[in-house]
Amino acid sequence: MSGTLSAEDAAWISAAREARVLEHIREKNPQFKDGVIPMFCPDADRTEMRKHLDKLVARETDGKPPRVHPLTSHGAALALPWQSPLSNLSPFLFGFLTDRRVFRNWFWRAFIYITFPLWWIVGRVARIDIFFLIKFWWAIDHKGIKAVVLYIHAPCGAAGQCGISFLEQLRYLILAKRRLKRRLELLGITVTCLCHVDYGNTADGYSGDEKEHPNTYFIRTHKAEAWLEHLSQRKKNP
Ligand SMILES: [Zn+2]
Repeated sequence: MSGTLSAEDAAWISAAREARVLEHIREKNPQFKDGVIPMFCPDADRTEMRKHLDKLVARETDGKPPRVHPLTSHGAALALPWQSPLSNLSPFLFGFLTDRRVFRNWFWRAFIYITFPLWWIVGRVARIDIFFLIKFWWAIDHKGIKAVVLYIHAPCGAAGQCGISFLEQLRYLILAKRRLKRRLELLGITVTCLCHVDYGNTADGYSGDEKEHPNTYFIRTHKAEAWLEHLSQRKKNP
């Protein structure tokens, strides 16, 4: 399930486009020539994200097959920052362990409920962010691909389940890029940030001009950071 774009998120996406934080992809990306390692959300209803990236890579390869080595995690780049709810197993572990379709023994489920604090700690300790930092390190080293593409997308079911708004997704994306660059800088990586939006799934009657037309936007993170800072100052001093 990929969720529904809320009217509030749709309005913020529209504002981000006006502020040119989200930009149509016009520039070429020569660093995609030797391939890319994208981090996608494995959303079965958003396969156009992958197809669009294939096209962006193919136009750089002089007719050679594009090399795309995807890593997937629910919420995509939201799994990378330490602060993100999706960086560990806690949003999912308790639900999994108490699902009677998975664990039929009532005694087991009762045990899980009684020992809930223990499982909350186990979930927090099970780090998805570290798992993906290792995956990136391994893929970059073994495939010789240095172009990383970090995605966020809206609407995103995993973000929705954790109550992460579009503005928070942007914040986590900036943190994800910064962390990846800091940790793997000496491997010579470049990091491109993209945001996919499906306007065809809006709630509350939002009627954006691109309704029905899913689109992938380029995000300049320094611009996004300045915009988020401006919004937070405006909130403090209205
Ligand atoms: Zn998603």
